[in-house]
Amino acid sequence: MKILIVEDEMIYRRMVKKSLLEAGYEIVEAEDGQAAWELFQQEPFHLVVTDWMMPGLDGPQLVQKIRTSGQKSYTYIIMLTAMDDTDNIVLGLESGADEYLTKPFNSRELVARVASGMRILRLEEQLMQARQQMEDLALHDGLTGLLNRRAIEDFAEAEFSMARRKERAMSVILLDIDRFKNVNDRFGHKLGDEVLRQAAKILKEDLRNYDRVGRWGGEEFLLILPDTLLKDAVTVAERVRVRTASTQISLENGESFSVQISLGAACTTGQFSSLTKLIDAADQALYRAKQSGRNRVCIFEPSN
Ligand SMILES: [Mg+2]
Repeated sequence: MKILIVEDEMIYRRMVKKSLLEAGYEIVEAEDGQAAWELFQQEPFHLVVTDWMMPGLDGPQLVQKIRTSGQKSYTYIIMLTAMDDTDNIVLGLESGADEYLTKPFNSRELVARVASGMRILRLEEQLMQARQQMEDLALHDGLTGLLNRRAIEDFAEAEFSMARRKERAMSVILLDIDRFKNVNDRFGHKLGDEVLRQAAKILKEDLRNYDRVGRWGGEEFLLILPDTLLKDAVTVAERVRVRTASTQISLENGESFSVQISLGAACTTGQFSSLTKLIDAADQALYRAKQSGRNRVCIFEPSN
């Protein structure tokens, strides 16, 4: 992790540089606030040691620019100041600095402050990672890694509104693994889970990058195809059906088998007043696919 040193007085710049280099840090130097700001925009440094008094952009102004730059990760800022009265120290911290050192400073103290800044940065990074993982968990189905029901529904709702506003077509496909209960009964739940994972993999591979697929429930999946007419949705559905049926799932004993799926498609061109009605239509089409022999694609056809 590189450290940016900002100091207009050469003697102090050299002192800071020497101390941090000896402590094993990589450093970059800037002679004043403006030069530092330009460097920062090219490469957001995680740790900055900056002087307060500098011609042009001074320390507090630089800190403020960094704090309002909108960068994702945190920058830990240590301010160097010759002014050691309380008011100025408070002002420096209020401008957004994390720490201050009064000049002349002790080299070991500087290194210790930098080390504590690094600890805080590492903690912050761990927190960010944990939050990211929580967000992923909240949106994804643990078994298949696909979006969960809530997340695919949110996506579908947004696309449904968009399709209406822009008067574009959006299609949905509801699909279900045929005779999945038999798989579970015959091979056990562990293999049943493996079947669900493999099916999810096929679904993901077959999508364009603006399509989405989610696990709708048990062995049921929902595909959302923005900007897609019913006939094109049928092409997608048919491709997925054929690929699934021809994919061999290996058993631990060396045998392999495949599963088949039934699919129902519906499109917003059918004038549905809500997303729920559109998905219901796909569900009715799926029901017909099941009733008429499974392993096939049916489209929603209004009954009257
Ligand atoms: Mg100065």
